[in-house]
Amino acid sequence: MIMKYCFYIILLNLTLSGLQGFASDSLIITNKKVSFGYSVSQNRNVDAVIVHSTFNNSGGDKYDIDLVLKQFSQYKVSAHYVIGRDGTIYQLVDEKDVSYHAGKSSLPDGRTNVNSCSIGIEIMTSYTEAPTEKQTEALLKLIHHIKKKYTIKYVLRHSDIAPVRKTDPWNMNWDAFKLKLNESKE
Ligand SMILES: [Zn+2]
Repeated sequence: MIMKYCFYIILLNLTLSGLQGFASDSLIITNKKVSFGYSVSQNRNVDAVIVHSTFNNSGGDKYDIDLVLKQFSQYKVSAHYVIGRDGTIYQLVDEKDVSYHAGKSSLPDGRTNVNSCSIGIEIMTSYTEAPTEKQTEALLKLIHHIKKKYTIKYVLRHSDIAPVRKTDPWNMNWDAFKLKLNESKE
């Protein structure tokens, strides 16, 4: 009888962990892989996530993903992910590869080659507009998804690692976001 009970508990645990696995894998990522702004890498160590802001300021829809990518291609920069206003997560570069998003910058522990050890995420906001709720939700999910794969030491803003040059992410309540990130699990 006890054996049978144990069996059901094990079965229940397996089912629950299965569901959790499904939940984390259910993150929908839209493929927008680019051919610029990154270098191929093998076995790099990822321990930082850097959050940025971007928009298209070359005319036309400022939140059009293709126009944003066109702009990136002109500057030969990228990010691993861009999050659209509707919460769509676009992937530009494989996580294993080095994306050029941080520029001249340094981590709190003094390391300066930030691109080599980080994943860069751009959220589409402008100088006057804040992230939408859907963007914030998507960013939380994406960072949790990343944290399951790597031991992340830092989740920082671009402005934290390049304070003289950079002010992004713009119009984001970072303290509130970090609190949410630390409180939420999924
Ligand atoms: Zn930035």
